[in-house]
Amino acid sequence: MKITNVEMVISAVKPEQYPAGQLPEFALAGRSNVGKSSFINKMINRKNFARTSSKPGKTQTLNFYRINDALYFVDVPGYGFAKVSKTEREAWGKMIETYFTTREQLKAALLIVDLRHPPTKDDVMMYEFLKHYNIPTLVIATKADKIPRGKWQQHAKVAKETLRLIPDDELIIFSAETGQGKDEAWGALQKWI
Ligand code: GDP
Repeated sequence: MKITNVEMVISAVKPEQYPAGQLPEFALAGRSNVGKSSFINKMINRKNFARTSSKPGKTQTLNFYRINDALYFVDVPGYGFAKVSKTEREAWGKMIETYFTTREQLKAALLIVDLRHPPTKDDVMMYEFLKHYNIPTLVIATKADKIPRGKWQQHAKVAKETLRLIPDDELIIFSAETGQGKDEAWGALQKWI
């Protein structure tokens, strides 16, 4: 995909704030610090467009990035920070549940996991949540550059088994550092664009 235009359209917390129009949307879910912003930046060839290294306590919003007037990446606040209070966790849960269960423009979720380690309990819960609502999911196993290429397939197998990935869902080995998996990821999204 040749990227000609990217725009951060809105940080939303409520459905009234979601952008109007019918462009397909892809929501990015993943543990804080897993590499969601880096994934978006690599996919759109920008160094620092989506904010990287999100800190705990940063505003919990859904960030809508419009790409080429063709689609949106929706950055969902990361999960798995021990420090977040119960109230904040509940607000987060409500916000993402509303988005994932009501948004018609949502075509698929991109669940970002770390290829180096088996998916965490939170990753498994997130995947189960997505499957419960029948949301097509593309698993992006990132940071592949941090382990030897010879180990990729074994780690991918562990990730698929831990998540209990269904045959309809694909896992793509990715690196925001090298661009590994980028074309494959765009290829996988193509069927919804
Ligand atoms: P987010 O909180 O999920 O948005 O995570 P970030 O994109 O901010 O990434 C967290 C940290 O991991 C940053 O220091 C990134 O530079 C690093 N990182 C993200 N993706 C990769 C990758 O594919 N390879 C390597 N080596 N580092 C990465």
